[in-house]
Amino acid sequence: MAGTTGTHTTPSYNIAIIGSGLGGLSAAIALRRAGHRVTIYERYDFGGEVGASLSLASNGSRFLQEWQVDIASARPVVLRNLIMHDWSSGEVSAQYPLGDYRQRFGTDYNNFHRIDLHKHLKEVATAEAGQGPPAQLKVWHKAVRLDSREGRIAFDNGAEAVHDVVVCADGIRSQMREQLGIVPRVTPSTSCCYRCIISTAKLRELGLQEFADNSAIEFWGGNGIDKIVMSPCSNHEVVSCYCFYPAQKNNLKEDGWNISSTGETLAATFPDLDERLRLLFLNADDIKMWRLYNHEPYPYWVSGRSCLLGDAAHPMMPDQSQGACMALEDAGALGILFSDEYAHLSIPEKLQLYELERKPRATRVQESSRRARTDITERIGWSSANDRPGKLTIEEVCGYNMHSHIAELVKSFTDPLSRSAVNNEQRP
Ligand SMILES: Cc1cc2nc3c(=O)[nH]c(=O)nc-3n(C[C@H](O)[C@H](O)[C@H](O)COP(=O)(O)OP(=O)(O)OC[C@H]3O[C@@H](n4cnc5c(N)ncnc54)[C@H](O)[C@@H]3O)c2cc1C
Repeated sequence: MAGTTGTHTTPSYNIAIIGSGLGGLSAAIALRRAGHRVTIYERYDFGGEVGASLSLASNGSRFLQEWQVDIASARPVVLRNLIMHDWSSGEVSAQYPLGDYRQRFGTDYNNFHRIDLHKHLKEVATAEAGQGPPAQLKVWHKAVRLDSREGRIAFDNGAEAVHDVVVCADGIRSQMREQLGIVPRVTPSTSCCYRCIISTAKLRELGLQEFADNSAIEFWGGNGIDKIVMSPCSNHEVVSCYCFYPAQKNNLKEDGWNISSTGETLAATFPDLDERLRLLFLNADDIKMWRLYNHEPYPYWVSGRSCLLGDAAHPMMPDQSQGACMALEDAGALGILFSDEYAHLSIPEKLQLYELERKPRATRVQESSRRARTDITERIGWSSANDRPGKLTIEEVCGYNMHSHIAELVKSFTDPLSRSAVNNEQRP
């Protein structure tokens, strides 16, 4: 299956990606840039992403830059500040100016509308233009079985495919995870969340334009479950809110994050909140709610020639705003390990190194996201390692140099002990 392309020193592998969310599309871009032939299999024909914001700190944005993605085309707002408000009065109680963020970490802190980013990544992954062979996107291909050792996938439409490598990026409810022999341990958290958006034009009518103008993530609450997280996106044309509340308030049992609600219900959930927000909620669009679940870290991510990526590998609470950043880091790691620089490694070695590189860091972020759900001082930006040693800090997350970490790992990989760290599991 592997061939060679032009002056390429690494074989051009035939790689499958299952799932075309932000993680799968990022992996497709990273691997095409490294010269591989990528096919993305998606179960739907794309309703695409949902209406909400998504912040990419530099550890995610850095890879967009490395893959020559024109970030401005996805219409981000560049974040300059984190702002904390008093719950009831709305007065500003604390600020964390991001100041020289770009100088410190090499990229902007970008806040996207999820739909804008998804659309743009899909274009970049499949475009004729740009480095590497364009990825092929096959919609209405729901993967139902995977032989992880053979790289053989069966789809619900009767089709089958065999690939050199299979990347399972099929999201938080991944079915491919189970095909890799992993049984997830999931418990409902005590939090539920609403999301809603509102146009800047409507905010202007309501006298709330400042929320669109501020290049900031703004918070209310966060000491305990109740928390509002608001930010502008789409070139300041849309403002998005995430509103966390105790699950016991309505004991939501339905699954998914597309259950519709109304502005009245949303406003009534937070009776003593800043009146400006309650007014916003009453006029908001696309109000949806969902229950949040805790996933324990999985014992492994790799089996044979297959691996997990993104939410399929490390579903996390949204409270660090790092889930997609971690998916981009996963994609970045695959892109590096499958590049010419590491052409001497076999596919199983590359995938073992992928797990060694990614699992400890993603698990640490997963655990800190869980703590940040009810304690905002655990969230990067508001956290400081001084008040509890070992806290995740903005420097650790945003200043990470994956290239040098992978180089170190590859160097020590000749050591049989480090190999055994990924070899002794009960994987199929
Ligand atoms: C409230 C909230 C706010 C968030 N905010 C941020 C933030 O600010 N910053 C950040 O970095 N992260 C954030 N995240 C996390 C981020 O949204 C996710 O981590 C990220 O979208 C995961 O992408 P993914 O591609 O792994 O999964 P998904 O987006 O779920 O994509 C999975 C894809 O696989 C497809 N699929 C599923 N099963 C199959 C199958 N069997 N065969 C074929 N295709 C299949 C699905 O249709 C889908 O297209 C937030 C999450 C939440 C819930």
